[in-house]
Amino acid sequence: MPKVVSRSERKFLRMCAVCREMKDKSGLLRIVLNKDGEVSVDSKGKAAGRGAYICPSCAARAAKSKALERSFKRTIPAEIYRRVEEFKWME
Ligand SMILES: [Zn+2]
Repeated sequence: MPKVVSRSERKFLRMCAVCREMKDKSGLLRIVLNKDGEVSVDSKGKAAGRGAYICPSCAARAAKSKALERSFKRTIPAEIYRRVEEFKWME
């Protein structure tokens, strides 16, 4: 059963595009699609555009899952997945 979260907690939750679990956004890596249709890894979480999130345990299988293709409905450059895999997660 998913744990029940309070309203104030929920504000910071985002869904991982791969496992679809809700997690605190501070622990997720944001991938952003800007208005020019460019996809980039938004390591600061502040870039403008439509975001998708990936959690640390899904980083290695993000490419295989095609989660970002599904989220953004476009082809994702291999470079983006490489950067997700190599991202230095803060503990
Ligand atoms: Zn995940």
